[in-house]
Amino acid sequence: MSDIASRIQEIKSALPQGVELTAVSKFHPSEAVMEAYAAGQRVFGESRAQELQEKAAALPTDIEWHFIGHLQTNKVKQVVAVADMIQSIDSLRLLRAVSDAAVKAGRRVDVLLQVHVAREETKTGFLPDEMEQAAREALTMPGVRLRGVMGMASNTDDETRVRADFKAIRGSFDALRHGAASGQPQFDTVSMGMSHDRALAIEEGSTMVRIGSDIFGER
Ligand SMILES: *Cc1c(COP(=O)(O)O)cnc(C)c1O
Repeated sequence: MSDIASRIQEIKSALPQGVELTAVSKFHPSEAVMEAYAAGQRVFGESRAQELQEKAAALPTDIEWHFIGHLQTNKVKQVVAVADMIQSIDSLRLLRAVSDAAVKAGRRVDVLLQVHVAREETKTGFLPDEMEQAAREALTMPGVRLRGVMGMASNTDDETRVRADFKAIRGSFDALRHGAASGQPQFDTVSMGMSHDRALAIEEGSTMVRIGSDIFGER
């Protein structure tokens, strides 16, 4: 068995029931994706439109592609053509563009709203108090299906800080579930936790972890 395959199996067997794995294959070649595929992995995350398009064209059609990077509106059409889910919806403008492109393509795309809780200025997303409005709008749009929220914790060794960030991400999911998204059975996804912080994310209520380097090695 390849290293990638054995790491996939190791990570998957350690995930509690109800926590899914997005294998983040960005910047790694299609051969690496195929090694994970051979180990049974079907959900892969990419962060660039061009790379996603190339891999989706070359690789098996039963792969579920998730877009997880910052998406510019001029790349929306390209991504909507192949992505099963866009996890990184970080503005209303992007949300509308995705819905419009999906309608034109005769599709409906699963989306997560990205919530900004980390302290770093560089991370994007809706502020927690903008989420309710964004969710209300998403639920009126014919090209998208609102599945939940995605977020990143601050990049720090301060465990208290990281845990607080994950609590805030989970909290915004719960607020929507009792607010704008109440009565929506497909609203079920809290995407949080990466290679270095997934244990804390799972403790704080993640339902989907996004793991790159622990599977594929350094980028
Ligand atoms: C790259 C990336 C990941 C994976 O990070 P690793 O540290 O390699 O596990 C997860 N989420 C997002 C949004 C990313 O851009």
